[in-house]
Amino acid sequence: MAAHLPCSSPSCILQRLSPLLCAARKAVRGLFADRVSMARFVAHQVIVFVALLLVAIQLVTLVALNWAVSENARESVRKEVDVGRRIFGRVMEDRTQQLTTAASVLASDFGLRQALMSNDHATIVSAMANHAARIGAAKMMLIGLDRRVIGETAAQGNQGERPLFPFPHLIENAERKGAASAIALIDDAPFQLVVVPVLAPVPVAWVMVAFTVDNKLAQDLSLLTGLDVSFATWARGRGWHVAATTLPPPKTSALLGALAPPAGAAVPPISPDLLGADFLLSGSVLGREDNAAVVAILQSSLGAAIARFDGLRVILLALAAFSLCATVVGSLLIARSISRPVSALAEFARRMERGEYDQGPPATRSDELGELAASFNRMRLAIAAREQQIKSMALQDALTGLPNRALFNERLQQAVGLARRLAQPVSVLLIDLNRFKEVNDTLGHHVGDRLLCEVAERLRAVLVRASDTPARLGGDEFAVLLPTASEAMAEATARKILQAFEAPVFVEGRQLDVGGSIGIATFPDHGDDPNVLMSRADAAMYVAKRKRMGCAVYDVAFDTEAESHGRLSLSGELRQAVDEDQLVLYYQPRLDLASGRITGVEALVRWQHPVRGFVPPDQFIPFAEQTGCIREITRWVMGRAFEQCARWRAAGLALEVSINLSARDLLGPELPQRCAELLASHDASPQWFRLEITESALIDDPARALDTVARLHEMGFSLSIDDFGTGYSSLAQLKRLPVAELKIDKSFVIDMARDPDDMTIVRSVIDLAHNMGLSVVAEGVETDEVRQLLCAMGCDYLQGYHICKPLPVTQLEPWLARRGAPHGTTAKET
Ligand code: C2E
Ligand code: CA
Ligand code: CA
Repeated sequence: MAAHLPCSSPSCILQRLSPLLCAARKAVRGLFADRVSMARFVAHQVIVFVALLLVAIQLVTLVALNWAVSENARESVRKEVDVGRRIFGRVMEDRTQQLTTAASVLASDFGLRQALMSNDHATIVSAMANHAARIGAAKMMLIGLDRRVIGETAAQGNQGERPLFPFPHLIENAERKGAASAIALIDDAPFQLVVVPVLAPVPVAWVMVAFTVDNKLAQDLSLLTGLDVSFATWARGRGWHVAATTLPPPKTSALLGALAPPAGAAVPPISPDLLGADFLLSGSVLGREDNAAVVAILQSSLGAAIARFDGLRVILLALAAFSLCATVVGSLLIARSISRPVSALAEFARRMERGEYDQGPPATRSDELGELAASFNRMRLAIAAREQQIKSMALQDALTGLPNRALFNERLQQAVGLARRLAQPVSVLLIDLNRFKEVNDTLGHHVGDRLLCEVAERLRAVLVRASDTPARLGGDEFAVLLPTASEAMAEATARKILQAFEAPVFVEGRQLDVGGSIGIATFPDHGDDPNVLMSRADAAMYVAKRKRMGCAVYDVAFDTEAESHGRLSLSGELRQAVDEDQLVLYYQPRLDLASGRITGVEALVRWQHPVRGFVPPDQFIPFAEQTGCIREITRWVMGRAFEQCARWRAAGLALEVSINLSARDLLGPELPQRCAELLASHDASPQWFRLEITESALIDDPARALDTVARLHEMGFSLSIDDFGTGYSSLAQLKRLPVAELKIDKSFVIDMARDPDDMTIVRSVIDLAHNMGLSVVAEGVETDEVRQLLCAMGCDYLQGYHICKPLPVTQLEPWLARRGAPHGTTAKET
């Protein structure tokens, strides 16, 4: 059975496979791309995270360190100032002691006392001046017990009234303690004053010695304390004035700013710790009067203290900058070291997408990327192997490992091409096993499979030439291509094959007999086209089988009249018609007499030939049945009918669609399989369809036909016996068939109103069917008279020109709409 489509050539199959493979490769590449970009993404994330973390840590460290440095500097400055203040106090005390001693030396000076006694003013002043010069005093004063100044070193002359001593409280202090000291303003300038008595032996006068408080003193004290020392004076109305200082002028004004008193007349309070903008200072009041005060200020610069840590800070900043740079550079290097192999992997994935499996992924490394690359490589090898497997499956029979139909056709084509050029013969053998079906059914598929493998083995054993190609075309159909073999050689090979089949096969302890029917056709005698050769070998095989001849070489006599040469070219054209959609389905309504409605249609094929025009089915269906082409036509018809029916159901039109099947359709396993596929792909119910078979379909190979019919019935399809009355089926056979309906052939119906014999036949068929529980359809109802007769006879359904001619869908739908078609359930009834 030479059913083969031009588009089942290997290159065609590979071409059809290629989008699938492409999609698979794309999916794989997608998988790769996902992983690769994921790896890239993670690497970048890690790098960015580490860099940011480092920056954050460094910032926090710097801030903390800065704070610690400032605090530390502040604390050390505070301590320095504290220590300095104590030293200052001590030094001032010592100085006072020294000054007091020096003053006491003058007071006990004999000359001075004598001059005092004799009231010799000039001597007093000169003694004081000498003494002052010796001890470095700025002024000296001799004060009488009346608190009036007797003489002083800085005075010009001594005429007139003696002035009052301006610091009487010092004398009071000295009276109590033996000596007194203070710092006070004289002519707005600060002086350290010491007052001691002139004893004879009781105090007879008082000596006051004044030492200037100047920059020199400030510097001396600064050297001892390690601080800046300033002496500031305050006088009511004039405010603060810096009398002596170790500070440079700009800092002096800053100090004045820090001292600025709040509004008020009194001496401003001096807090022991004052904090200026960048210095810490400590002030102590050295002398205070009603309208004036002298203050000593010790200070240390915070800025300078902090500046001592500048070096450390610079080092830290440099370290931070360095580590940040190192991190960024390192990160970039790591990122590159990751992204480069990752990019290489991506390129590898692209190569795989293009189907280039020869090259593995780039040089492997030992890290995770290396592992990834290795697993990609395993994947590549697995995919390549699977693709190879898919490709070989497209050209090889999976069970027997023999070339399949596609590869066989390709080789046949090549062989015929070559033979044509070299003027050599080519032979094909078509082998069909006998009773294989029974083996399969009674002993199970696994036994059937073993048998087929054994057949393949024996074929291989018989065919010794490398150029001879055995193939499994499907089911139990095998073929052998014998290039350069003449008809006689082919026949000899066929006999050898039959001989090889004679030895029984043992499977699971059972003995099986393999028998086969072989048809032979040879180029160029029996045809010069591969398709023709195959159909002729098929015809020969059919004859060999029917006549139980073992093998038969094609003979023109095998063709009926209709298979004349002109018609044979129809074979090729018919296949083309299926491929190029030249076929059209018409639908003929059937009337349900019980409801008076149209409940179903019969699908009838038409051929719109590009040259011959409209070809009625009667002219090509019988021919297609002979050449085996009917299988393709049935495939096409079923596809269209299922699609149309599903569309009607979806639109709410509950029409049952009858489909005509041929004897050939019932001989292979494809039909039930095809039906199952169609049901699934259209989500259709088998109850939407009726399958029409003719009585004659069951005659050639009743076992196989019955089996197919039974399987279709099991699937839920209703079956009709078409053209009932023209065949020779026995009632016994009819009883065994799982059919639901008889269709009385139109030859009995058309004329039944005039022909009493026909009337009788029709009536008895109706009765017979009803007795067997079957419904009856009468086709060929052309007149109202016949319609009425059939109605009266209890016929169930009518079909005929009187109701409606077969119509294309575009005309049928309006017709149904006018007629009021059955709108029923759209759901799939199971
Ligand atoms: P069939 O299955 O018996 O189909 C009924 C035939 O009777 C159809 O002819 C139809 O047009 C014709 N017919 C219907 N009503 C009347 C009537 O009132 N009077 C007359 N004289 N004829 C009527 P069609 O369409 O030419 O089909 C002829 C045969 O071709 C069909 O006979 C069927 O055996 C076969 N056929 C048609 N389509 C298919 C198909 O898709 N597959 C198969 N295997 N065979 C088909
Ligand atoms: Ca029919
Ligand atoms: Ca019919």
